[in-house]
Amino acid sequence: MGTIESASILGVRVDNVDYAQTFEWVGRQINQGYACQLSTINPEFVMLARNSPLFARTLAESALNVPDGAGILWAGRRLGIRFKERVTGSDLLPSLCSQAQQNSWRVFFLGAAPGIAEKCAAILSERYIGLRVAGTFSGSPMQESDDVIVPIIKRARPNIIFVAYGAPGQNLWLARNLPKFTSGHADSGVVGIGVGGAFDFIAGVQTRAPTWLRSISLEWLFRLVRQPSRWRRQREVFRFIWYVLIKSHQLAT
Ligand code: UDP
Repeated sequence: MGTIESASILGVRVDNVDYAQTFEWVGRQINQGYACQLSTINPEFVMLARNSPLFARTLAESALNVPDGAGILWAGRRLGIRFKERVTGSDLLPSLCSQAQQNSWRVFFLGAAPGIAEKCAAILSERYIGLRVAGTFSGSPMQESDDVIVPIIKRARPNIIFVAYGAPGQNLWLARNLPKFTSGHADSGVVGIGVGGAFDFIAGVQTRAPTWLRSISLEWLFRLVRQPSRWRRQREVFRFIWYVLIKSHQLAT
């Protein structure tokens, strides 16, 4: 795959990879026996990192940071990098299950409301016949629950852990716990990916924005209309736009 080009978007490293490179990267980590995190960066992540040194460090140490939000691609253009494409957590969930089916990787579904991870796993197992589901568990992103969840996942020996706790909880959970799953053996590495509300989309308890709205970068508006309680989080996106405009102005002068 060669060296991956990266850019700093307001202090957060974003790696310029497309889906094909992401799949190749995941395969390599598993083959080499590593335990590492893949994070899906959107403007909310960037703003959270500005306010939380712990989250900023988690993203800095994350092994691959893919450009998830449309706002990240826009910011890249303003700041001098043309990201190849959006690589979203919601699309990585099914597409990595397809890769897992082809490569016999074991997948674990952690998070979301009780019953949703099971439902998501059942739907994806039907879609990708032969998918090796290592386990499912709802649990909680709180540190107090680690003692319950970690042994369950250790026994399940997954190669990919999808974590649906939303940011920052899912990313902090992975940073804290992934090292406990290092096997060091070739072919038994584990990649952890925070996928936000993706289990809810697959299970059908939330509706994802139609493709045409996503293609004009308005997925965030669709989610805001469906879940007005997100307004506080969405407000941060406007601050993100403002900071990027200031930064690109500084670079131009
Ligand atoms: N969630 C959870 N436990 C928590 C907080 C959130 O299981 O303590 C789940 C929630 O049920 C949802 C997902 O985390 O399935 C987060 O969805 P959200 O829409 O916030 O994530 P986004 O896609 O915006 O990153």
